[in-house]
Amino acid sequence: MKILVTGGAGYIGSHTLVELLEAGHEVVVLDNLCNGAREALARVEQITGQPVSFVEGDVRDRVQLDALFDWHDIEAVIHFAGLKAVGESVAKPLAYYDNNVAGSLNLCQAMAAAGVFRLVFSSSATVYGPEAPVPYTETLPRGRATNPYGTSKAMVEQLLEDLCRADERWSVSLLRYFNPIGAHPSGLIGEDPQGVPNNLMPFIAQVAVGRRSHLAVFGDDYPTPDGSCVRDYLHVVDLAAGHVRALEAMSSPGVATYNLGTGQGYSVLEMVAAFTAVTGQAVPYQIAPRRDGDLAAFWADAAKAERELGWRALHGLEAMMADTWRWQYHNPKGYRLRVTDAV
Ligand code: NAD
Ligand code: UDP
Repeated sequence: MKILVTGGAGYIGSHTLVELLEAGHEVVVLDNLCNGAREALARVEQITGQPVSFVEGDVRDRVQLDALFDWHDIEAVIHFAGLKAVGESVAKPLAYYDNNVAGSLNLCQAMAAAGVFRLVFSSSATVYGPEAPVPYTETLPRGRATNPYGTSKAMVEQLLEDLCRADERWSVSLLRYFNPIGAHPSGLIGEDPQGVPNNLMPFIAQVAVGRRSHLAVFGDDYPTPDGSCVRDYLHVVDLAAGHVRALEAMSSPGVATYNLGTGQGYSVLEMVAAFTAVTGQAVPYQIAPRRDGDLAAFWADAAKAERELGWRALHGLEAMMADTWRWQYHNPKGYRLRVTDAV
């Protein structure tokens, strides 16, 4: 299949390119590089030995999308492109609704005009909302998101459900990710946040590599076994493989929604301890106040993806830690400079 991957130069997108190419698919990437790197695509080519067609552009640009669909014989789209920083979304709601909602709407319009009706969408566990009981199952209703980022994901899910109800040519997978971490085992691609990382794992890795003095653990008084928050961390390579499974399993019209997680929760303090145990690197930390909007604990019921897609997470915590460290160690400044290039 020839697949358009929006946001393919980003973290999850680049790992998904590897899985798609290794499964025999052809890919075209559309990315405006606001948070992605051209170098990530070169590394994907290096890992797979296969070419990646790249179009630098924005999913909100209809003229460019029409030209792309005219030029390439696209059969399906995986839509990663969007903004993802929760805190920033509170400060800049218009930017988030414009990019995430208007961008998705524009993409769907261009797809319909081009006669492409298969879409895999990057959603998030955040759509369950703060009141949902754990583990989260796909049968729960969407909750009230606590920030514009989460609301933008819920809005696009709703938009896609309405679209499928109205027009049975559409086939859509909504993939609700839990907490992707880790990197490709080659150490060539990984997560490369700009500025101070918002997420736990890149922060831990940057402390270990000496870019930051210590980790702030946001809260140790939650109702969890050790007081720190619990999340369902999954290896990004497993997550990437889930996209290939979802795409290949799409046979009937309508929307199918899947949790992609491991079903197992770990606390922040357990993650720090596991990183040190696996890599031998100390991660100094201090307990800090709770972060606004954080939930105490959630994890996935991932049974539906296993039942219907034959997908489950194969990598455990040890691989997640080792692969994160390999990437960070060899690329201390992300895609900007490799340690091996500097010597
Ligand atoms: P990322 O920022 O690394 O990748 C997103 C890519 O999209 C970047 O390369 C960026 O340059 C590109 N992009 C952004 N806006 C664009 C636009 N308007 N037009 C074209 N390209 C654009 O993020 P990621 O972690 O790889 O996340 C991918 C998707 O998965 C996002 O939609 C995100 O919301 C969703 N998601 C991520 C997580 C996570 O923890 N990383 C969790 C749940 C859902
Ligand atoms: N966290 C932390 N320190 C950090 C970043 C995150 O203690 O510097 C905690 C955060 O409070 C949450 C967990 O790590 O409990 C995972 O946070 P992340 O932002 O990675 O993912 P989220 O689940 O919020 O999407």
